Amino acid sequence: MLGAIQEWAKVALELVYPADCAVCKATREPGSRSALCGKCREELRPLPRPFCERCSLPFAGQAGEPVRCSHCADKVFHFEKAVCACRLTGVARECIHRFKYNGALWLGPELAELFVAAARERIEWAKVDCVVPVPLFPARARERQFNQAEWFARRLARTLSANMIANNLRRIRDTATQAFLNAAERAQNVRGAFAARRPEVFMKSRVVVVDDVFTTGATTNECARVLRSAGAESVMVLTVGRG
Ligand SMILES: [Zn+2]
Ligand SMILES: [Zn+2]
Repeated sequence: MLGAIQEWAKVALELVYPADCAVCKATREPGSRSALCGKCREELRPLPRPFCERCSLPFAGQAGEPVRCSHCADKVFHFEKAVCACRLTGVARECIHRFKYNGALWLGPELAELFVAAARERIEWAKVDCVVPVPLFPARARERQFNQAEWFARRLARTLSANMIANNLRRIRDTATQAFLNAAERAQNVRGAFAARRPEVFMKSRVVVVDDVFTTGATTNECARVLRSAGAESVMVLTVGRG
């Protein structure tokens, strides 16, 4: 009987965690709790230093040098800084993409570890009032069945005992995918796409906006603008990948 249960548990586990590495298809180590093989897991590394303190863009140079990049020097950000867990390349990019579009939920925990580590290291949580995930337009949320930004925000809130507010900031307009747009077009594309249902909730709050990726920052910047105009005292951005 026990043998049958063990056998069944093994099958169930294999359904949750496919036998091959979710990224490169190599055979995973037997009994591994990760969806990735050892090699791919090793490639999931924190954002390499040095990087810009304001927009998290890594650049060549010695760690310890002044950390402000020229790319964001002339940009108007409504957030104080963007904290990103890893570079959006290689295995990380593949994991984020599959997690987002293919519903590969088993890849979430692989990324969450890096995400929470970056959050702990670069954000002073005693000075944060709430965590707000970037919302999806309702039709997209239905189509995709879950909001990946909310998944990470929830995980973070649970780990750090932070307060998550998920249904106040909402997307009031569907927007074209940002992938093929340049920075100016991206900003234009998301302009006016968000609104707070009850803006007074954010009054004098210190907010951390969570998204899966940060590329030009157009989306999170627009969220930050709306939150600041609702009266938020400060906004920081936290994402998994830095494009
Ligand atoms: Zn692999
Ligand atoms: Zn920068």
